[in-house]
Amino acid sequence: MAYTVERRIRQSPQVGVPPYRQVHAHSTGNPRSTAQNEADYYHNKNMYLGTFSHIVGNGRVIQVGEVGRGFWDVGGGWNAEAYAAVEMIESHATRAEFERDYKIYCELLRDLAKQGGIPLTVDDGNLAGIKTHNYCTYHQPNNNSDHIDPNPYLAKWGISIAQFRKDVCEGTSTSNPGNNEKPELPQIEEEKNMFIYWKRSKNNNEVFDAFFVNGNKRFHLPNQTWVNEMREVIKRHSDPTWTADKEFRYNYDNFGVLGIEKTTEEIGW
Ligand SMILES: [Zn+2]
Repeated sequence: MAYTVERRIRQSPQVGVPPYRQVHAHSTGNPRSTAQNEADYYHNKNMYLGTFSHIVGNGRVIQVGEVGRGFWDVGGGWNAEAYAAVEMIESHATRAEFERDYKIYCELLRDLAKQGGIPLTVDDGNLAGIKTHNYCTYHQPNNNSDHIDPNPYLAKWGISIAQFRKDVCEGTSTSNPGNNEKPELPQIEEEKNMFIYWKRSKNNNEVFDAFFVNGNKRFHLPNQTWVNEMREVIKRHSDPTWTADKEFRYNYDNFGVLGIEKTTEEIGW
């Protein structure tokens, strides 16, 4: 085990009844909070706004709730299936920081599934297994959640769901301490043809919207933080020499941009 569990339990309401058939994987959605912040906040918050069992961050695992009692964590029918609900922080500043926590996160999810007698699967078609909040949002009965964590945060670091599934079920590729080989970095699995372009707004000539393209998929970058993050992703996975100078600016009716739009599918997070 590559982690120790610090227990700082707050009694949470029991939700549903045994058997609990899922372990839920979350990320906090907060780009600034530490594991300590999250645990402190948990002990002061209104429980009716949500409960979870573990927070992973800064190399630590803090357990804030007892497992095996259901949680108010996915905003729908599968709250009552949660044996455990694991959050990971989103404030990693470097890849090394992210990888340390990601490895713990995967291992903890795996260990909790084993402990709860839950199949070691991620987001497969069955009721029992490890589920991302994203998967719950799209598949659970009585869904009232619009959360899609932890998928965008994992994607930000180049981890697809297929990679996440593999890392949870089989162990992360860096899980061999003492091995001096360069760890195999997680890869975005689609084509590595990545770039950013800007498109002038139809409604306001002064404004350009940024889009990130990866193979035949594109998505809108809602703010400068995203632009900066995706520039780093491009450098890491596609073009190490990428700079803002390479980002084309198109008029909204330019043939080039229409071509990009025709050959890529826009996806949302
Ligand atoms: Zn969540």
